[in-house]
Amino acid sequence: MNVAAFVPSKTAIPYYAPGGNEVALFERAWAGQLPLLLKGPTGCGKTRFVAHMAARLGLPLHTVSCHDDLTAADLTGRYLLKGGDTVWTDGPLTRAVREGGICYLDEVVEARKDVAVVLHPLTDDRRILPLERTGEELAAPQSFMLVVSYNPGYQSLIKTMKPSTRQRFVAIEFDFLPPEQEMAVVAAESGLSETRVRPLVQLAGRLRALKGQDLEEGVSTRLIVYCASLIEAGLPTREAVLATMIEPLTDDADVKAALVEIARAVI
Ligand code: ADP
Repeated sequence: MNVAAFVPSKTAIPYYAPGGNEVALFERAWAGQLPLLLKGPTGCGKTRFVAHMAARLGLPLHTVSCHDDLTAADLTGRYLLKGGDTVWTDGPLTRAVREGGICYLDEVVEARKDVAVVLHPLTDDRRILPLERTGEELAAPQSFMLVVSYNPGYQSLIKTMKPSTRQRFVAIEFDFLPPEQEMAVVAAESGLSETRVRPLVQLAGRLRALKGQDLEEGVSTRLIVYCASLIEAGLPTREAVLATMIEPLTDDADVKAALVEIARAVI
């Protein structure tokens, strides 16, 4: 991917094109020591936004991709056997609370229920992390901020955030950028010209309109970036579209055939 123009070195701020006032809101939430919840479809820029904000504020970023086996102990830490001794080892959340900075729990609703218990005392004015196993009670430093994300559209009803947890966060809703802005992002990320990116973004718009009917999820910005990157690398457009904007969306042969038809009309 050709992001060199925007990210000249590893220490530079990752490129992020805002869709609204989320940058100012994030800065206010951080200054006010408030936890933040980012809602929105997969691949719409939530993770990039957090990376951008961490770099902008000069804060370390501790990211955890949550999954359905992730327990509170995976976040806080556990005793591990090391050379015959049992040694306490901090989990990523505990490290973030000790060191300060942003702790980002991506797709938090995927995690086991006991995770909410750990997050509650950290997300009210106590801002503490009790570690039952070690008997410690860590107070979060001023620079600590908890950021969580989830995708309200895609999870089943069982996997949603309980109001008692959700109502502890300042929340920002994310969506895909308007077409002109999304085109600029895809062009910047892939190196493909905006003229060649345009039909891909148009196609994504058509496919997103099918969400809830034939498709569980619409095409993410991430997938359009993949598609544009493959085209930029020399793959024929139709092959790239099939591999990135159609195959990942469905396993149903009839739906796939319908998507191919739509793609033919646009590309
Ligand atoms: P999410 O965390 O919402 O699943 P990501 O932040 O990982 O999505 O975004 C996927 C990719 O899409 C990023 O790696 C980046 O290439 C691109 N992207 C999406 N939105 C933006 C944006 N607003 N600014 C810059 N890049 C973006």
